Amino acid sequence: MKRLVCILALTFAWRLAAADSCGDTRSRILTRSGELQNVINAADLVTLLLCGESNPSDVFQEALRNRDYAPVADIQAVAAEKNISWTPPACASGSCEIYLKLASLDAQLRDATMHEFGTGKVQLAGSGGLPSIPDHFVLSFFARHMSKAAGHFEIANNGIDDYGNATFERFTPQATYVLADASRDADFFEWTNPPAHAQTRNDDHTAELAQTSAQAQDAFLTWEKDVIRRATDACARNDPRAALYWTGYAFHGIQDLAFHDGISNAEHAWHDYGGTSPEKGVDTTFQYGRKCTLARRGTAALLQSMRTKLRAAGQAQCWTAMLGYAKEPITNRQKKRLQQPRKTDISLFELIRYRSLESPFEKGHTAHPERFFVAPRWLAANSNDFDEALYDSYVARIFQ
Ligand SMILES: [Zn+2]
Ligand SMILES: [Zn+2]
Repeated sequence: MKRLVCILALTFAWRLAAADSCGDTRSRILTRSGELQNVINAADLVTLLLCGESNPSDVFQEALRNRDYAPVADIQAVAAEKNISWTPPACASGSCEIYLKLASLDAQLRDATMHEFGTGKVQLAGSGGLPSIPDHFVLSFFARHMSKAAGHFEIANNGIDDYGNATFERFTPQATYVLADASRDADFFEWTNPPAHAQTRNDDHTAELAQTSAQAQDAFLTWEKDVIRRATDACARNDPRAALYWTGYAFHGIQDLAFHDGISNAEHAWHDYGGTSPEKGVDTTFQYGRKCTLARRGTAALLQSMRTKLRAAGQAQCWTAMLGYAKEPITNRQKKRLQQPRKTDISLFELIRYRSLESPFEKGHTAHPERFFVAPRWLAANSNDFDEALYDSYVARIFQ
């Protein structure tokens, strides 16, 4: 807020000389029906104040308080981190501070992430939104969850291969696609739910842990069990495609466990952005090979356990139908139906919030490490080591 006031003061003199009519300025800030526009130039607010209209300024201040809008600079920072190439909306004058309505961008973002995966056809246009996205957008976008090299999709494919080699049972390419595709979906539908990513909940403002390690592990196991139950329920209603979807969806948590080891989102942000973090590149470089191997192993183990579970439940024919699935991939519309009442929850607001956790974490963790670092970590006594047997025990406990 301080920053806005500062900008308002800076632009004050310049705007005094500006010749914009009050009506023009007003229409740049408000729609005909009196709603705030998606793109707001703070300098216009000053002009309008000089016209004797204070209300739009108050409405905008309220919108900022609600975090409905964010300055272009913040969005640009996130875009740069995620390799999203975009051009901010043009500024008519040399002196302006543009704010964008996050919801208008979020709708486009959600559509894009749910659509045209990897085709390069994604277009985010209008309303000062993200105008275009390069091919690698979607993968690089999920920097929080393994962007470079292999991500969930590739690890799932490798794990499915390993399962085939171990059991001499092969999933069809179509079945493999449904499984691997679903393995990344928790990042669309449950971005804000820590158990889906094998993480411990933190306070969004202080960045301090809001759960004990044991509570978070329980929540993770409960999340996985619930997803597996959805898969077996799908089998019970003779829907092998949905059973494949939920089985693949369950991969996400066990794969993230290998990478996150229970750390909070705030700690994750610190590893991504904090200059003093010893685990820079927590998803992409730090112990990357070992983590991938572990995640792949968990994926294959989850499939083995799923087969055992279905056989024990007298649903061996469902497993056979899953292996031999030869129809289309699951469309986004079908995914949304399967996920109801859950909706996609990824947004620019959440990405900006995620990024902002680094600062309080950096400031607080030295004086009070116990408030910031989950202890014990879920897999190892220290971050350089993983206990494979311990990792395997999670898969076993999911199916207990
Ligand atoms: Zn991650
Ligand atoms: Zn995740």
